[in-house]
Amino acid sequence: PAEHFDAIVVGAGPSGNAAAYTMGKAGLNVLQIDRGEYPGSKNVQGAILYADALERIIPDFRETAPLERHVVEQRFWMLSEKSHTGTHHRSDTFNEEKPNRYTILRAQFDKWFSKQVREAGVTLITETTVTELVKNEAGKVIGVLTDREGGPVYADVVVLAEGVNGLVGQRSGLRSEIKPQHVALAVKETHFLPEETVRERFNLADEDEGVVIEVLGSVSSGMVGTGFLYTNKESISIGVGCLVADFAREKIPPYELLDRFKNHPSVKPLLKGAEMKEYVAHLIPEGGYDAIPQLTGDGWLIVGDAGQFVNAVHREGSNLAMTSGRLAGESLIALKAQGLPATNDNLKLYRDALEDSVVIKDLKKYRKIPGLLEKNRQLFTTYPALLNRSMNAFLRVDGRDKRSKETEILKGLKKARGNWLNVAFDMLKVARAWR
Ligand code: FAD
Repeated sequence: PAEHFDAIVVGAGPSGNAAAYTMGKAGLNVLQIDRGEYPGSKNVQGAILYADALERIIPDFRETAPLERHVVEQRFWMLSEKSHTGTHHRSDTFNEEKPNRYTILRAQFDKWFSKQVREAGVTLITETTVTELVKNEAGKVIGVLTDREGGPVYADVVVLAEGVNGLVGQRSGLRSEIKPQHVALAVKETHFLPEETVRERFNLADEDEGVVIEVLGSVSSGMVGTGFLYTNKESISIGVGCLVADFAREKIPPYELLDRFKNHPSVKPLLKGAEMKEYVAHLIPEGGYDAIPQLTGDGWLIVGDAGQFVNAVHREGSNLAMTSGRLAGESLIALKAQGLPATNDNLKLYRDALEDSVVIKDLKKYRKIPGLLEKNRQLFTTYPALLNRSMNAFLRVDGRDKRSKETEILKGLKKARGNWLNVAFDMLKVARAWR
């Protein structure tokens, strides 16, 4: 008879690895399947790794994980065509013994994570795509079919950690297709530079310190989107992502947007002399709380990007993926210990754990943000442009008196939004969505 597993995990990204590791370490018989040549081979991230989520799974990860730089400075830029205005937060407290955020290269990181998963006793099969879920007459999921020869593989429960598209779930009728207004397409390049050049260009003390820059404004050419630039040890990751629905409407090729960003006068000097070695594109779930699909059913549950667990405001995804993976693993371990089957009713344990965690709490907090951004393009166009123009006028010393300048700035704001009421409404809308 075919081997029967306690759990099958579809996908070896952060969510699948977290779930598989948690269960494997507790002694469950787990099979993990990934379509990549090796875990991480096609996975894309900016990438910032948030230590806390991983630390709760592998406390001593810093000793062996391939980490690039820990983040000591975060910049936030409002971009206009020729300038940027922004804030920086740099702190020596980020140079703590156990730093809080790191830049990573996902291909290396996923490979490392997968090694830990296998060492925890999980069986991994790569270069294998799960095509469909197998159900019994009662509709309970009892296993998976793959593109390999041979019949189905059976398990008590299937953990869908398949990433943003959720194709297996869709094909098996568990969920609907992801909407174009709920997903961003991001393109990213990696530019290589000598380590000392990265250090000098970003004012860093050594090869372990890093800077990240998040960008809003003209970088998305009027679409709902953002840009980013992260320092790795010997390279810089730079990317831009906008809603798929916007790309379709505006007909701007994503690579053209990235090209413009790279050639922006604020960015170009940072990349000078660098050698571009990697170009990748990937989707990011951005629909927030209201885009979350059904997360559990009889014999199955969803973790990570497949559940739309991305906090677009804070650029957090991999940590929510790992947290949901861990909570799924812990819930399944608890059910197994009590001899309870993974029915939809019993998987309430997982749903409750999620509700109680940072994953759902944060997504709920920002529930109104995706709708706000979609309906208020001025937040990506008018305001960043205005801020830059105003700063420029304010700082330029040209013989005009300051009061006249202030009046001009305020007039510009009123004119850009038609009247003061619109400006007040904009502020109110942002404040209410943020609550
Ligand atoms: P994935 O990482 O997508 O992994 C899914 C896995 O499933 C893959 O290995 C894939 O091969 C496999 N798979 C899919 N379908 C099948 C199938 N049918 N059969 C077998 N295997 C299958 N998050 C952050 O925390 N910080 C950042 O800085 C950040 N920056 C980002 C920048 C970009 C450009 C992008 C695109 C995303 C970024 N994110 C960031 C989000 C983060 O990458 C995701 O939230 C995270 O990767 C989700 O993990 P996951 O395991 O759920 O999915």
